[in-house]
Amino acid sequence: MYDVIIIGAGPAGLTAALYAGRYRLNALVLEQLSVGGQIILSSTIENFPGFPGGISTEELIERFKKQTEELQIKVAIEEVKEVVFALKLKNSLYNINTNCASYQTRSVIIASGAQPKRLGAQGEEKLIGRGVSYCATCDGPLFKNKEVVVIGGGDKAIEEALFLTSYASLVYVIHRRDTLRASKILEEKARANEKIRFVLDSVVEKVKGSDKVEAVKIKNVKTGSTSLLNCQGVFIFVGVLPNTDFLKRKLEMDENGFIITDQELQTSQKGVFACGDCRKKSLYQVINACGEGAVAAASVQRYLI
Ligand code: NAP
Repeated sequence: MYDVIIIGAGPAGLTAALYAGRYRLNALVLEQLSVGGQIILSSTIENFPGFPGGISTEELIERFKKQTEELQIKVAIEEVKEVVFALKLKNSLYNINTNCASYQTRSVIIASGAQPKRLGAQGEEKLIGRGVSYCATCDGPLFKNKEVVVIGGGDKAIEEALFLTSYASLVYVIHRRDTLRASKILEEKARANEKIRFVLDSVVEKVKGSDKVEAVKIKNVKTGSTSLLNCQGVFIFVGVLPNTDFLKRKLEMDENGFIITDQELQTSQKGVFACGDCRKKSLYQVINACGEGAVAAASVQRYLI
């Protein structure tokens, strides 16, 4: 019987584990893939306080991990399939069923994060891993001296476009509006980079190529005209979707599956808390994911008392 099971080992889950460890709670972290969560898809993080000039995400995660290890919190690589709510002598209990075990706990912190959204363009699915990618850090080095397109106008798209200029000869950023959603500091850097070209007011209708990416078909949304842009790589950054399917809508969520919580990060189910990118909120950053991890662990501590 655990005091708390934390689902997800990204910045939110690892910080919740750190605080749970310091409260001396009997805690377990369950992670389906590898420790680090979504940020390991980025190479560096520039806006985490205390690291002027930025820090590699790998190093930051390694530091988070070391801190939880110092408190002897176990991280098990298992995929959570189901969370079952039960009542025993008026106390809530939770059974967490994974792909290989079943655990009992008195409370749960959901920190399961989010994953990249698909664009939905014709040819996209077929060419994943053959030029279509959702991770510049993983696949960028494969495009040395090649021409690539980045789709999206948010922070992620612009950050990754800048990263790709270390490898690609040209990076086209294709965005559906004429203004970017990304923060101004990123936009300024991208506009000053001579390897980046913007294709605005445009959407990608089709990714072309029989065995690997050869071009994208672009439509200008203002004029309706279409054109072909030759490229070898297509990097898609059009937002994220929460990893909350395993909860089967047992908690209150918004229409996209982001979990709704109160200020103490309590969900609609007593004893179940949520933090990080799986939550509905206004700012999705590593820094507030960490802050929420701390709040969730503090809320669990109060709840258990
Ligand atoms: P985002 O901020 O939601 O931006 C998604 C972008 O994709 C938007 O520009 C959007 O266009 C475009 N888009 C969405 N659906 C599309 C479609 N079907 N076709 C074409 N374009 C489409 O997502 P994100 O950039 O992945 O970032 C997710 C969150 O993480 C954000 O809150 C972001 O601030 C945060 N983040 C922060 C940092 C950082 O601070 N260093 C880095 C990465 C991510 P519209 O603008 O027209 O809606």
